[in-house]
Amino acid sequence: MAFLQGKKILITGVLSNRSIAYGIAKAAHREGAELAFTYVGERFKDRITEFAAEFGSNLVFDCDVTSDEQIANLFTDLAKSWDSLDGFVHAIGFAPREAIAGEFLDGLTRENFRVAHDISAYSFPAMVKAALPLLKPGSSVLTLSYLGAVRAIPYYNTMGLAKASLEASVRYLAENLGQHGIRSNGISAGPIKTLAASGIKDFGKLLGFAAGHAPLRRNVTIEEVGNAAAFLLSDLSSGITGDIMYVDGGFSHVMGLNSSDYE
Ligand code: NAD
Repeated sequence: MAFLQGKKILITGVLSNRSIAYGIAKAAHREGAELAFTYVGERFKDRITEFAAEFGSNLVFDCDVTSDEQIANLFTDLAKSWDSLDGFVHAIGFAPREAIAGEFLDGLTRENFRVAHDISAYSFPAMVKAALPLLKPGSSVLTLSYLGAVRAIPYYNTMGLAKASLEASVRYLAENLGQHGIRSNGISAGPIKTLAASGIKDFGKLLGFAAGHAPLRRNVTIEEVGNAAAFLLSDLSSGITGDIMYVDGGFSHVMGLNSSDYE
C-alpha cells in the first residue's frame, strides 16, 4: 500500500517544476496523499492551479508569508475543505539579492537581515502556529534547510543565519508539539538548480564542488528530496522528530579529503 494513503498534506513553495516542493508533491502524490498548495500573488494563481491539477488537487491558496493576515486566512480557508491536516511542508526561502551576492559583511544590513529571517525562518513556526487547530496526533511538519545553516558557505551569507534560526525552530517545535503527538523535522538538501538558488552568486560553482566532493559524486535531485520528505511526512518515520536529515549525497558528513584532491 502507498504509505501516505489517506493523508492530507499542505505544500508551500511550488513555483516551477524545478522547485523542491514540486519534487515533494510528486512523491507525496505517488504515495497516495491528498494535496493542497499555496502560491504568492495573483499572477501565479493559474500556474499553481495547473500544477495542483497534475496532482489531482483543486485546493490552491494565496499566501504571502510576510502577511499575518494571509497566513491566518490560509488556514481558515483550508479548514473549509479539510477538517484536519496530516502534513505541512514549508519550502519557502528568500533573501534580498545584495545579501547573497558578495562578501557577508558587504550585504549585511538591518533590512536584509530582517527580510531574510522574516520570510525564510519566522514563517515556519508562524505557519505551524496558525495550522495548530488542524494538526492532530500523528501529524508531521517539515521544512527545507541547507548546509549554510551550520557551516560558512561563500555567498550564502545572511541566508545561512536565517537557516540556522529555521533549524532551531525545528527543534523548538518538536519539543512544543511532541506532547500532542505532532512531529517537526527538516531536510538539509544539497544544492539544486532552482529559481531561488539561482539568486546565489556563483551557484554553478557550488553545484560543481558538491558533485565533485560528495561520496555519490553527483548532485541530488528534487525527486530524491521528495522521497525523503514523503518518508518524514509518513508514519514510517513516527519515531523521528526534531531532526535535520541530510539529503546531499553524503557531501556534508562523510569525506575528509576527496580522491580528486590528489589529482
Ligand atoms: P524555488 O524558487 O522553487 O522555491 C522558493 C519558494 O519560496 C517559491 O515558491 C516562492 O514563491 C517562495 N517564497 C518566496 N517568498 C515568499 C513569500 N513572501 N511568501 C510565500 N512564499 C514565498 O526554490 P527551492 O530551491 O525549491 O526552494 C525551496 C526551499 O528549499 C527554500 O527554503 C530553499 O532555501 C530550500 N533549499 C534549497 C536548496 C537548493 O539548492 N535549491 C538547497 C537546500 C534548501
